[in-house]
Amino acid sequence: MFTSLINLFYPRICAGCESFLLQDEKVICTRCRHEIPLTNHLVIPNNEAFMKFYGKIPVEFAVAHFYFHKKGVVQEMIHKLKYKGHEEIGEAIGIWLAEELKNFAPMQDVSCIVPVPLHPKKLRERGYNQVTSFGKALSEKLNIPYDENVLIRNLYTKTQTKKNLLGRIELAKNLFDISNDISLNGNHIVLVDDVITTGSTLEKCCSALLKIPNVKVSIICMAMSQ
Ligand SMILES: [Zn+2]
Repeated sequence: MFTSLINLFYPRICAGCESFLLQDEKVICTRCRHEIPLTNHLVIPNNEAFMKFYGKIPVEFAVAHFYFHKKGVVQEMIHKLKYKGHEEIGEAIGIWLAEELKNFAPMQDVSCIVPVPLHPKKLRERGYNQVTSFGKALSEKLNIPYDENVLIRNLYTKTQTKKNLLGRIELAKNLFDISNDISLNGNHIVLVDDVITTGSTLEKCCSALLKIPNVKVSIICMAMSQ
């Protein structure tokens, strides 16, 4: 049903190269699927995504599916997903990555998929969180619940942001928090986002999630800048 609706409303054009899709191709054409630079993070122990957080925040594993290059096909796809309403791109990437995650041993005890929350102002402007369709596709294909109410983005008043430097650093560190009504004690949570760049937002989300007793946290992203 969902797919047939997408076909109705979106022209059947590849999200990467904009060539027409063949009947059995979905969202991303076969050629792009072969040419998109994959990271192979799932088979590389201590991969570069994991090393990005190493020594900063304890994560079980961190993976991104693609490399993100300026002006590349991946940037084109993420741009359409983020700013042009093409949520089916996130879904397609999620389905693709879920196929590989099925055999990824560290994934076996994951019990919850949590997105990085979008700032409410951006959410109002955009109308959707660009990570939702990706996270939900992973959730559906891997049979792991998706919960967007675990992490909360703290909002600060103008007076608070006018605080001295130390105060502002303190506020920036606590940008995210966990909701009170959650019972994820001892769970393994996967945090999902679009692109890993500096990793600082993901790091802040992780430190909020790590307030949950005995929790384990991992990171899965669509892409990583190189
Ligand atoms: Zn293509």
